[in-house]
Amino acid sequence: MSKINYKSVEEIELIRESSLLVSKTLAEIAKVIKPGIKTIELNKLAETFIRDHKGVPAFLNYNGFPYSLCISLNNQVVHGFPSNYELVPGDLVSVDCGAVLHKYYGDSAYTFAIGEVSDQVKTLMRVTKECLVLGIEKAVVGLRIGDIGYAVQEHAEKHGFGVVKELVGHGVGVRLHEKPEVPNYGKRGSGIKLEEGMVIAIEPMINAGRAGVRFWDDGWTVSTIDGKPSAHYEHTVAINKGKADILSTFSYIEEVLKEKE
Ligand code: MG
Ligand code: MG
Repeated sequence: MSKINYKSVEEIELIRESSLLVSKTLAEIAKVIKPGIKTIELNKLAETFIRDHKGVPAFLNYNGFPYSLCISLNNQVVHGFPSNYELVPGDLVSVDCGAVLHKYYGDSAYTFAIGEVSDQVKTLMRVTKECLVLGIEKAVVGLRIGDIGYAVQEHAEKHGFGVVKELVGHGVGVRLHEKPEVPNYGKRGSGIKLEEGMVIAIEPMINAGRAGVRFWDDGWTVSTIDGKPSAHYEHTVAINKGKADILSTFSYIEEVLKEKE
């Protein structure tokens, strides 16, 4: 088991650059995502945008993953394949993006509603995003990994939602997935201590129904066991004293979404 790579201030700034490239890529997706677009077109757009900005798509060829984005529809949780499927109103689309810039990785995910979605899906989206915020609030020096997971799990389960346990957040740096693992469940005060220099991706994957998931035989796609929808939001954050430094941002995405309203 490899150990945690603690980052210097300079390295954290490089991870911020790659994370912001990911955030801007997701904003490009926000501009065009609508009924009728094929999810493979979103993948192409992301790959082009990342390369045009001197980055490399982090997911492409990662352990053989064949695309630049993970696009997970409705009951798919994560790691879905972009395809010729055309989005329709009511779809819930989780888009996960990673980029490498100057040898450092950034990782962020956002879940988009296509047209009008059900009230249950709206609540799922809101609560999952709140889980991310609450988890990030615990990503500070002096607390432990279990405090992050506890905050996420407690909030999701309070709303009757299922927390995915099989997949977890992770350290980010010169590799996409570094130590430590960052589960979306846990006990307060448990797990490794959070210290300055740690950079982690916090990424709640929350199901409208049961927590259980199914792994597809394409080797990648993960979906809910009960067929109910799932949402996924992710930020790359640096552990700090008092308040986490969020290296990715949803502000570009949300500006675009507000203009589209
Ligand atoms: Mg991700
Ligand atoms: Mg991640």
